[in-house]
Amino acid sequence: MATGKIGVTTENIFPVIKKFLYSDHEIFLRELVSNAVDATQKLRTLATFGEFKGELGTLDVRVDVDKEKGTLTVTDRGIGMDREDVDKYINQIAFSGAEEFLEKYKDNANNIIGHFGLGFYSAFMVSKKVEIRSLSYKEGAKGVLWTCDGSPEYSMEDYDKSDRGTEIVLYLDDDSKEFLEQQRIDTLLRKYCRFLPVPVISGKVQEWKDGKMEDTDKDKVVNATEPLWTKKPADLTDEDYLQFYHELMPGQDDPMFWIHLNVDYPFTLTGILYFPKIKNEFDVRKDRIQLYCNQVFVTDQVEGVVPEFMTLMQGVIDSPDIPLNVSRSYLQADTAVKKISGYISKKVAEKLDSMFKSDRKAFEDKWDDIKVFIEYGMLTDEKFFESARKFYLLKDVNDKYFTLDEYHTLVEGEQKDKDGRLIYLYATDKTAQHSYIKAAEEKGYSVLLLDGQLEPHMVGLLESKLENVGFVRVDSDTPERLIRKEEEKSTGLTENQTEVLTILFRSQIPEVDKAEFMVGFDAISADAAPATVTQNEFMRRMKDMAAMQPGMSFYGDMPANYSLTVNTDQPAVKTIIEEADKALGSETGAILKEISDLNAEISAASKEAQDKKEKAPEMKEQNEKVAELRKKLDETVKGYAAGQPKVRQVIDLALLQSGLLKGAALSEFISRSARLL
Ligand code: ADP
Repeated sequence: MATGKIGVTTENIFPVIKKFLYSDHEIFLRELVSNAVDATQKLRTLATFGEFKGELGTLDVRVDVDKEKGTLTVTDRGIGMDREDVDKYINQIAFSGAEEFLEKYKDNANNIIGHFGLGFYSAFMVSKKVEIRSLSYKEGAKGVLWTCDGSPEYSMEDYDKSDRGTEIVLYLDDDSKEFLEQQRIDTLLRKYCRFLPVPVISGKVQEWKDGKMEDTDKDKVVNATEPLWTKKPADLTDEDYLQFYHELMPGQDDPMFWIHLNVDYPFTLTGILYFPKIKNEFDVRKDRIQLYCNQVFVTDQVEGVVPEFMTLMQGVIDSPDIPLNVSRSYLQADTAVKKISGYISKKVAEKLDSMFKSDRKAFEDKWDDIKVFIEYGMLTDEKFFESARKFYLLKDVNDKYFTLDEYHTLVEGEQKDKDGRLIYLYATDKTAQHSYIKAAEEKGYSVLLLDGQLEPHMVGLLESKLENVGFVRVDSDTPERLIRKEEEKSTGLTENQTEVLTILFRSQIPEVDKAEFMVGFDAISADAAPATVTQNEFMRRMKDMAAMQPGMSFYGDMPANYSLTVNTDQPAVKTIIEEADKALGSETGAILKEISDLNAEISAASKEAQDKKEKAPEMKEQNEKVAELRKKLDETVKGYAAGQPKVRQVIDLALLQSGLLKGAALSEFISRSARLL
């Protein structure tokens, strides 16, 4: 019997492993089973190349627990090891710079394991003693028994083993007895080994017998050795994909469609990504894509590993280039992983592009459901934006779809403003904004429907990416001014008139919850509406964004700002103006004259003081007088307004059109309308 010291530079590496690898104990099983699978695969390969000429026999891996002995054994019928192999692969572990590394990564078990190829040694996280019993496939090989009790001392001796392959026997620690429970092992195997390429057997198939589950004598295979993603897409039917989906994600509705990734250059990568139907609620979950490395489960925490927008998708990605044994933060920083991420993003874009090109009609039919993926991708991934440009669709209010280029061509003729900017009009709610949409369409404009969850963000993104394009919501201005084609026409009102009419109209606007109104005048045209209520595009966007982002409640709490634009060319409005002039003109004119004289006096005094570099005089008396006059003006106009149902009628029509006339104000409007009739 030979004894020796394991070739590590740190004297007591095992206590270190045990201590620092604490949180990830369970992965020992993944390590041992993957080693067993590797050994089996290697034997298969040798047989294929004629280097192994013996009987392969049944090639499987067994995981057996023995409660009495307190052991867990992983058995394979792979290539096995002879003394030399054990010495080379197990005893001489490359531990260069171990101490330094351990210090650096002591909080992260996975990193340590991965860095050193410590897979096998992870057995010591749960064992007080480990045995390797092995017989190499090589002709005339002798069996070997290696034993180690967790100190760097090991022993190695000849061992009488008749069956080719390796048995790893773990004598479990007292505080690791949980791994003697078949159920616990089943759970772990299901998590890590579900799709391993060699049958893994553990425990027995159970059956209902006399009111409880009992073991039969049939071995239980825990894995599917040929998961769908390893097969050729051409050999698979839709049913196959759906069935696999439901196995992977139990309890979900059918996905909309899927992408089968199958690449071998510049790296090997296979996988299937499903696009689930996203319900109203934006339920982003980060555990819906599983990463595999040669069919060994790595993680389902893929944040930062796959492109952000893919966290909306579900499925599997398998690549031998994904490092098996590292933590997520390490994965995220890994350059191979970064490349993979960029590559997947590119592949998804290519697939969408080919779907679009091969059957545009079908693509359009799916668009409303898939746009959230595409928009999320465009918003978070610059490169994806560039590739998605070709198939990103804009939908108009009549359910017609356009690519960005097509839409540009469509509106180029009609929708340029006076500064040469192309204005894309859009609605977010076809019903609520119906009259605005109609008015815009009557002017020959196209109106887009942007009613998706992410579209308020898309508007900003597209404005920044498309050259000289602005988005304007269809109710953010009067139809005539949505796209300003020429300098504004003068209203023909004097300053005095504007001031009086502003008071006149403002005083008649009913209270609307969480809304504030500004009054303005515009000579639109004789046949346009007498007045329109619009909401400023910028303020509305801020409020929309605020509604989506908790941190911005400042904007959310602010009242909405509306503009009431009175059309001074409209005959009814003209009459209102004339009548007001007649009734109020001389009285208000006199007050305004007085105010203007006083203001002139105040500013002259302040200018004089300024010239002399003195402090401006208070002019208290004059200022008070101005305030008093303003009050008088207000009262005069309001008194007059009270007897002018037509003013109120004009305002209410505008409020009605924008859905702001409600409750008592609406009832009053109806009875007033009847009276006016
Ligand atoms: P890694 O698997 O990352 O190389 P391990 O510590 O898990 O690191 O294993 C070290 C080596 O020991 C393997 O590369 C392999 O050569 C050998 N080995 C481990 N388990 C087995 C096994 N069940 N059968 C044959 N060889 C094995």
